[in-house]
Amino acid sequence: MSSSQSFKRYELPPLPYKIDALEPYISGQVIDVHYNGHHKGYVTNSNATLEKLEKINRGEISGYDIQGVIRNLVFNVNGHKLHSLYWQNMAPNGKGGGKPGGKLADLIATQYGSFDKFKQIFTEAMRSLPGTGWTVLYYDTETGNLEFTTFENHFMNHIAELPVVVIVDEFEHAYYLQYKNNRNSYIDAWWNVVNWDDAEKRLEKYLK
Ligand code: MN
Repeated sequence: MSSSQSFKRYELPPLPYKIDALEPYISGQVIDVHYNGHHKGYVTNSNATLEKLEKINRGEISGYDIQGVIRNLVFNVNGHKLHSLYWQNMAPNGKGGGKPGGKLADLIATQYGSFDKFKQIFTEAMRSLPGTGWTVLYYDTETGNLEFTTFENHFMNHIAELPVVVIVDEFEHAYYLQYKNNRNSYIDAWWNVVNWDDAEKRLEKYLK
């Protein structure tokens, strides 16, 4: 086996706005710790785990725990991919919030009757998440429905390639510095930064 065999590495994508662009709803301090601390950490740890896999592959490590290695990879790779979606899914400088338009608005009207009803159920879903994880609105390509799901921690039993339309990080690191243990206040604030243009762009990609 050639020792030149290797895995390509993950890269931290640039934050699509300035660190304080979501204020006052999400503070610059929260985004700084979240992006430069946590997200960067998931990328670093994904790549460290790939390096370990390379060494295992080359027979340079004996007595490894392959289940632990894979679990580590899933946690960190999903952490990276979910955060990459989360940043894009919020809009800077007061351009977020309001109501969606386009096909997303049509689907919401068809399935939920009104945006207010949709928002109520989405909020209830977010508030119901036990502990640490994510609430996600996704497009089900089988039914053509917009459906909700939650991911506990970063584990989805597969890598994050679900047709995500809207995604909300509910880890404590996403709000604690600003909202302490009042997660519902973070959820209410998040409705002011949700990026409906990004959601529409994602949905239209899945509809094709
Ligand atoms: Mn996070």
